[in-house]
Amino acid sequence: MYDLSVEIPRLQAEGLPHADASVFGDLPVGTLHESGKSLEKYAAQFVAGHDPCPCCGGVYWAWTIQHGVAICEDCGWMARVFHYFRKPGESKDTSVQAVLWYHPDELRAR
Ligand SMILES: [Zn+2]
Repeated sequence: MYDLSVEIPRLQAEGLPHADASVFGDLPVGTLHESGKSLEKYAAQFVAGHDPCPCCGGVYWAWTIQHGVAICEDCGWMARVFHYFRKPGESKDTSVQAVLWYHPDELRAR
C-alpha cells in the first residue's frame, strides 16, 4: 500500500525533470491551454518522459470522476489524459490525448 503523504515528499526530493511543450506534439508558439496558461507553463506541471507511474512504476490507470483525469491503479498518483488548447487565431479548442503524470511539486498529500 502506498501512502502519498510519504511518496510525494520522496519524489519531490528526487528533483524529477518537468515536461516541456514537446509532449503535446507540434502545437504552434502562442498556443494557450484552456486554463489560460501558456503551453510551456502548462506542460511544466507534469513529469518529463514518464510512461509508467513515476511513483510506483505502475502501468495501469483508472478514470476519476473529473473529466480527463486519471489515477494510477496501484498507488493513486494523478495523471491528466485529455488536454485542451486554443491555437492562435482559432476559435475552437484542439484536444490532445496523452497520459501525463503530475509532477510531485504540483501535488499535496491530503
Ligand atoms: Zn503508481
